[in-house]
Parts: sequence; structure tokens; C-alpha cells
Amino acid sequence: MQDPSEKDLDPLASLVFIRSVHNELREYDGMRVGQSRPCPGCDSTDLRKNGYQRASKTFARLVTEEGFEEVGLEVQQYECRACGRSFQGDLSEHFYEGCEYAKPIVDLCRLHAQTHSYNACERLLQRLYGIQVDRDTIKRYDELFDDTVARETTVIGGAEASLPFLAFLFGDGDADGPPFVFTSHSALW
Ligand SMILES: [Zn+2]
Repeated sequence: MQDPSEKDLDPLASLVFIRSVHNELREYDGMRVGQSRPCPGCDSTDLRKNGYQRASKTFARLVTEEGFEEVGLEVQQYECRACGRSFQGDLSEHFYEGCEYAKPIVDLCRLHAQTHSYNACERLLQRLYGIQVDRDTIKRYDELFDDTVARETTVIGGAEASLPFLAFLFGDGDADGPPFVFTSHSALW
């Protein structure tokens, strides 16, 4: 049964939009992350690089015609020369503490959870952005933070879409300026 807050999307607009979302997110696949940080065991900064973590860190999970597709980052490992401890580099640029998916995905969940049930939110993320996050994870993200995310949205394919997420994907990283998609006449929608 459809949640009353769910709207039908324009299928063509949303298909084109999902493709561009996927293409932008795929840019992160295989990216090497993990800046040096003091040893979490003894605070020493006398470290050596110790290769990359075997399993990549999930940035986002895409819903494609072939099924789920992982966008994964390579995480730098360090070994402390003082105490011998091995640990991951600093991931705080891309991840909130304790969150499986990257910051922009978490923020996206939190924004849409303001106006949708967690079930409807999971479906909306799939249908509007082609992104998979299960409802329990969305619920956890919604409850994890004390602050609220600003509800800045625009309409894409008939549905409300997150402006900060679009700015992250298509913008120049300047949060104050509008992303190029809204200023260019060659925009896809
Ligand atoms: Zn140490």
C-alpha cells in the first residue's frame, strides 16, 4: 500500500536523473581514503603505512537494472611503531562515526525521513535516486543525531529532492552557491 506522502514520478525524468546520480557516485569507487591520525591506542604519531583494508568501505549502494552495485573506497591502514597496533586512517571527511554509508547518503536519509515513514523513505531513495538504504538503517540515522538537517529541496520528476545532495553530486563543493545544474540551460531536466 502506498504511503500518502508518496508521489508518482515522471518515469523518463527520473530515469535520466538516476543515471546521472549513479555516474557521479561511481566517481568515488576505488578512491583511496584514510588520512594519518594519532594511534588510537597510545596517541603516538610514529606510524607506518600498512597497506589497504581488504574489504572496501561502502560509500553508497546503487540500485541498477542488474541489481545492487557497491561504490567502495579503499581504506588506508596504519601500524603504530610504538605499540604495534593496526588501525584505519581517518575517515571523518567522508563518514560520520558509526555510519555504514557516506555522509551525503546519511544526510539524504535524514532529510527524507522528516516527511516519510522509514518504509516509504527506503522506496523513495530507490525510485528517485536509485540508491539502496534499508529502512532499519534509515531509522538508525534518523535517531542518531541531535540536530536536524535543513529541509532544502527542489522538484525532480515530480518529487521533492534534496538540494544539498544535488550540490554534493553536481556542484563545485561550494555549499553557498547553487550547483551548475540549476544555472545551466543545458541541464538534463
Ligand atoms: Zn600506538
